[in-house]
Amino acid sequence: MIYKTFRIMDGVEVYEYGYAPLGLEYLLYTVHFFRIGDTLVDTGSFKSRKALPDFSERPPAQVLLTHYHEDHSGNARYFQQKYGTEIYGHPLTAPVLATGFPIQVYERIMFGPTEPLQIQVFPEKIHIGPWEAEWLHVPGHSDDHCCFYVPEKGWLFSGDMYVADRIKIWRKTENLKLQREGLRKLLALDFDTLFCAHNPQEKGGKERLRTKLDFFDNFYGEVALHAQRGTPLKESMRLLGRKESYFTRFMTEGDVSVENMFRDVYREEGFLL
Ligand SMILES: [Zn+2]
Repeated sequence: MIYKTFRIMDGVEVYEYGYAPLGLEYLLYTVHFFRIGDTLVDTGSFKSRKALPDFSERPPAQVLLTHYHEDHSGNARYFQQKYGTEIYGHPLTAPVLATGFPIQVYERIMFGPTEPLQIQVFPEKIHIGPWEAEWLHVPGHSDDHCCFYVPEKGWLFSGDMYVADRIKIWRKTENLKLQREGLRKLLALDFDTLFCAHNPQEKGGKERLRTKLDFFDNFYGEVALHAQRGTPLKESMRLLGRKESYFTRFMTEGDVSVENMFRDVYREEGFLL
């Protein structure tokens, strides 16, 4: 079952889609994409395609992708083919989408299959609808992850850089050190509305990002100390009161887990290969 909502936030059209195979009380996730004039930021997952709005009256001229993950790029080829929309992304996003990328079984179930497509690389100057905008490369969630900043409106399209104040589970490919650097870079910008792909914040978006960075900094510091003292990884999870989410770990075949986040710090500190 597809879950969907629509709202306008500070003049931006906010499209939210989720997937609930066992009924809406078991909604697995939701993801948003945004429309501003002729521009879409991200495209939602393939799973939501049947429920997408009909844009034939006002076809979008361009899509800006925050990163290649399927829940963000899943309908890019559809918009390209149906409306002739230009698709733009980071130089690291383009080759991944051109060849297609392997996805885990859980991702295929939750988001749908991936479709290879050719995209263009962001020009130096971009616009979002009528507004001048900047793209910023902030890797760490994925190598290619970008955010879009609209200074005149105080908007930040943050892809997956926020999601929540506290993060408990971690993909194997995520990098905490890079995400902390990225958050510091974003906090130097002047914005209030945070167009997060999973949890948009109309007001106080910058505070939310700062809260997340504080959480990450504290987490990193505490876990790094345990690593340096030689505390076994599982023991440091116990000491910090973190329990593994076995359901998530099982469902994602180990791609997403609580332990992954600890492993990332131990690795960064040179205590794991
Ligand atoms: Zn992502």
